[in-house]
Amino acid sequence: MRVVVVGAGVAGLTAAYDLAAAGHDVLVLDGADRVGGKLLRAEVGGVRVDVGAEAMLHRRPEGTELTRALGLPIVHPTTATSRIWTRGELRALPRSLMGVPLDDPAPTGVLSPEGLARFRAAMPRDVEGDVSVGDLVDAVYGPEVTDRLVEPLLGGVYAGHARLLSVRATVPQLVTVAGGAAPPAPVTDGPVFAGIAGGMGRLPERLAETLAVRTGATVRELTRTATGYALTVGPTTAPELVEADLVVLATPAAPTARLLGSLAPTAAAELAAIEYASMAVVTLAFRDTDLPAVVSSGFLVPPVESRRIKAATFSFAKWDWVRAAGDGLLLLRTSLGRHREEAALQADDADLVAWSVAELRDAVGLDAEPVASHVQRWGGGLPQYAVGHLDRVARIRADVERLPGLAVCGAAYDGVGIPAVIGSAHRAARDVVRTAAPPG
Ligand SMILES: Cc1cc2nc3c(=O)[nH]c(=O)nc-3n(C[C@H](O)[C@H](O)[C@H](O)COP(=O)(O)OP(=O)(O)OC[C@H]3O[C@@H](n4cnc5c(N)ncnc54)[C@H](O)[C@@H]3O)c2cc1C
Repeated sequence: MRVVVVGAGVAGLTAAYDLAAAGHDVLVLDGADRVGGKLLRAEVGGVRVDVGAEAMLHRRPEGTELTRALGLPIVHPTTATSRIWTRGELRALPRSLMGVPLDDPAPTGVLSPEGLARFRAAMPRDVEGDVSVGDLVDAVYGPEVTDRLVEPLLGGVYAGHARLLSVRATVPQLVTVAGGAAPPAPVTDGPVFAGIAGGMGRLPERLAETLAVRTGATVRELTRTATGYALTVGPTTAPELVEADLVVLATPAAPTARLLGSLAPTAAAELAAIEYASMAVVTLAFRDTDLPAVVSSGFLVPPVESRRIKAATFSFAKWDWVRAAGDGLLLLRTSLGRHREEAALQADDADLVAWSVAELRDAVGLDAEPVASHVQRWGGGLPQYAVGHLDRVARIRADVERLPGLAVCGAAYDGVGIPAVIGSAHRAARDVVRTAAPPG
């Protein structure tokens, strides 16, 4: 069957890959001038590194399975660990479930004596329905755990706010732990994260090599035909009609809502209500002689510290391939920007670089100017899973399923991490065939 996949991010490319492997005639359309969506590499100081997503969970199989199937080299981060920049120091992070300590956090000094006492007096609570992560942690362990530990960890993944994000959709294990169940046992079976030598950006590049992809092809409208669907593609001045038996929408929530507008109004309204966070990734290259000895893989910054950067990743210390590729240059990156704080990014690239350099100086004593820098802005970078997100996704899928041969996938639904996004794409590839009307 003729399939059109809209969106050449990792979700769309994966769905297309599955459908092509199943023998369908697949075309991928993307409005951007490149493939990959939030997976992107760029040259900084002559070194090609990721300026979007840079790692994937190893414990969920979907990312590494696909990477392996494509013949790309899977690597793991070094043993350097991340720190937290709080109370004037870089401190060790306690072993935690998305910031909720699983051991007594006293030795790290992250919590004040009062915060520590409140944590030790945890008051287990059962959750009915859904609540925000922050509201649950406030009630069980005290607000300091939310502000100093959960916010920076959750902020690192969602660029969001703990008191707005759904516990069921983002950290479901916390529901049982906060209810008094034993915390999960320490993980001992292999590395938690994986990457690709040369960068995660190689994943969509390689997928696209195996597929028919058109970039610069924004899809503006989706309508039904007697046998399938018609997509209006390209500039309004020169629209082109592309026909398909099956369609997979692998676009972020807002364009998906627009495309579904008249076909699935309930799904469209639910999608339009999903908010996104914008952020920027600032990559810096320093001479190796300029950097003080750095033992960690980076650090997180709790929002209560009122700094501009929310995290720094010492890519050269985290990934052996980045250090080797640097050949005398050390590359690292900072990230800025949280949900509903877009104003913080309304500055020149030069400002974002200068703020990053200044705060790195304060944090690790890095007193040098970078030899190269790169600013990547991600407007609408990460969907925010608000309280009730799982029910919202169920309503979206129920409405979309009424339309034969149509499916949706991507970061808006079942998880923003790369393996979860790939998982949603596998599901869409199955669903779109399953729901297709029988021929004739
Ligand atoms: C800065 C940053 C860092 C991240 N770091 C990590 C990380 O380290 N590990 C991790 O697991 N996850 C990370 N994530 C999350 C992860 O990268 C994303 O959730 C995932 O890549 C999203 O993939 P996607 O295919 O769903 O969407 P996208 O990558 O957003 O792709 C959607 C595509 O649709 C196209 N499109 C939109 N509208 C139209 C239209 N009308 N017509 C045609 N095409 C259209 C876009 O151009 C885009 O290419 C990070 C995200 C960001 C922003």
